[in-house]
Amino acid sequence: MTAPRLPVASQQAAAQSLGDDPSGVGAEMFGVVAELYPICRSITGDGVRQTLRYLSRDLPLDIHEVPSGTRVLDWTVPNEWNIRDAYIKDSRGRRVVDFQLSNLHVVSYSVPVHARMTLAQLRPHLFTLPDRPDWIPYRTSYYDEAWGFCLSETQLLGLGDGDYEVRIDSSLAPGHLTYGEVLLAGKRADEVLISTHICHPSLANDNLSGIAVSAFLARALQGRERTFSYRFLFIPGTIGSVTWLALNEDRLHLIRHGLVVAGVGDPGPVTYKRSRRGDAVIDRAAGIVLRHCGLRSQVVDFSPYGYDERQYGSPGFNLPVGVLSRTPHGQYPEYHTSADNLEFVTPAALADSLRVCLAMVEILEDDRTYVNTSPKGEPQLGRRGLYRAMGGVPDPGTMQMAILWVLNLSDGSHSLLDIAERSGLPFGTVSEAARLLAGRSLLLGQSAR
Ligand code: ZN
Repeated sequence: MTAPRLPVASQQAAAQSLGDDPSGVGAEMFGVVAELYPICRSITGDGVRQTLRYLSRDLPLDIHEVPSGTRVLDWTVPNEWNIRDAYIKDSRGRRVVDFQLSNLHVVSYSVPVHARMTLAQLRPHLFTLPDRPDWIPYRTSYYDEAWGFCLSETQLLGLGDGDYEVRIDSSLAPGHLTYGEVLLAGKRADEVLISTHICHPSLANDNLSGIAVSAFLARALQGRERTFSYRFLFIPGTIGSVTWLALNEDRLHLIRHGLVVAGVGDPGPVTYKRSRRGDAVIDRAAGIVLRHCGLRSQVVDFSPYGYDERQYGSPGFNLPVGVLSRTPHGQYPEYHTSADNLEFVTPAALADSLRVCLAMVEILEDDRTYVNTSPKGEPQLGRRGLYRAMGGVPDPGTMQMAILWVLNLSDGSHSLLDIAERSGLPFGTVSEAARLLAGRSLLLGQSAR
């Protein structure tokens, strides 16, 4: 991963994207996805460590190891799972199902097995997708001691009667749960939490896209001034966020805004899922960005199913954490199958997702409340050179409206985000109008949320 060549994000940049990748940053993120794709990850084990080590080459990543058996909220950190090889061999010794060809072939967290058995005995341990006969499903068995193989329906139909040698060379033993954390300190201790899961094996969109976009968001934020502090979590799904919450309960009050980033590499509509609160600043920021981003998009309500927002938004925490994805999980046929591969993810979609994240961050960083210093009647703008300023922008009508909206609503109780929502104008335009007015002493006072 090399340093991203990112322009400072803006609403306008988000609006320009429309499926292209002019800066090349999408191609760079795609490169990260491709490099991490072959690794066999799970909720614990060396695949997670390898992935985090890769990310730590370019990010100040703290890697945490939490021992198996640690009590975390209502859960217990499980034993650590690692796998070296697995296969089903036919009576002639040929590998008819081979972990070396796809790590999806083994049910994640399978206990070790080495046995000979008939197809009838083997059959309850085999999983296919009859409707998609050439795809391999992705299955897990984290909390039940079991073993199994996933294969295509076509492969299954090709298995004749006779004896098979079945081998899963795995280990499930006390070890650690591993996660990565990046803290980028800002002027304030208040934090923006960005969380992505790192526990899936060779699946490109559901997992690696979120890792790549989060990593490049962190890289972009490293290079700019920050009001908020930014905490990035690269954690195994569910048990990782439960563990992090359990270990950090005393500092959760610092989290002002949060976003789970997952499934952001497919070309489907940009989808924002609201936090449990439904009206948090992050929810409103996402609404404004999606309204103006020029991409197909949708905002959906919170539900207690999905990714780690379920844990952050559990009633005992109720953190303002939304979710950014493209096509929602489970709503595309490639989801949790071998078809969620490198052909399913595009550099342009990755680039657009990153631009949306950056535009949301820009709102969090730049939202302010001002007071109009000349609130009785409209101030005379021409005398202050503000019409000349308008003449310099491509759309003077929009900027003029933004100036009038900011002057009208800046009574100390409406923030720039409020004004963007009420006026229907992009946040970047409203923010620029405020900058111009403050520069002419027509606005005073400001406070970030
Ligand atoms: Zn998943």
